[in-house]
Amino acid sequence: MDQIRITQQDADELTEALAPIFNHGVERQRKLLRQMCEDEKWAQVFRPDVPRLFADRSLLLLTHVLRTDYVQKRRQQLSSDVFRFLIYKVYSHAPCPEHAVLDGVIFPRDHTMLKHCMPPNGWRCLCDVSGAASERMAPLLGGTRMIDTCDVTGHGDTAWVAGFEVDPAFRNNAIPTMLDTLHHIAQGHADTELA
Ligand SMILES: [Zn+2]
Repeated sequence: MDQIRITQQDADELTEALAPIFNHGVERQRKLLRQMCEDEKWAQVFRPDVPRLFADRSLLLLTHVLRTDYVQKRRQQLSSDVFRFLIYKVYSHAPCPEHAVLDGVIFPRDHTMLKHCMPPNGWRCLCDVSGAASERMAPLLGGTRMIDTCDVTGHGDTAWVAGFEVDPAFRNNAIPTMLDTLHHIAQGHADTELA
C-alpha cells in the first residue's frame, strides 16, 4: 500500500514544523501532528481516524526524530581514540529483538562489524554503545564477553556474531532520513500487531 506520494518537500515541512517544539513532549507533538492531519495526505500517513494506528505511527516518527539526533552525537562522542573497546547494550526495558544477540558484546574499536551496528540503529531500537579505555573497564559498562568468545560466524573475512542480521535500511550505519521514515510509516511498517 504505497500509493501515498510523499515528497522531499513534505518531509522538510514536517521537520520544520516539529523543530520549534522538539522539547515540548510527546502530547504537544501529537497535537501538532493531528492539526497537520487536517490535510488529507498527512491523514493518510498518520491515520488519526484509527487511534491505535495513530499512536503507533506518531510514536515511531517522534522516536525517530529524537534517535537521529542522539545517534549522531553519540557517534561523535565515541569516535575519540580514548575508547579502545566498545560495548553493546540492549535497552533492558524494551529489548529490541534484532539486536538481542549483541547484548554485552565487547568489540575492539576497529572491528569490522561495527561498520553496521555502531551507533545502534533500528526502527524501534533503544540500544546503546559505551566506550571503554581498557578491557578491564568493559565489565563495569555491561560488557559480558569479547566478540572472539561469542558464537561467531564467518562474514566475509571477519568474525561476525551469529544471528545478527543488518536491516538494509541501516546498512553501513546509515541513519534513515525523515523521508525514509515517512515511507516506512506510510507502508504500515510502524504498526504493531495486537492480538
Ligand atoms: Zn537495538
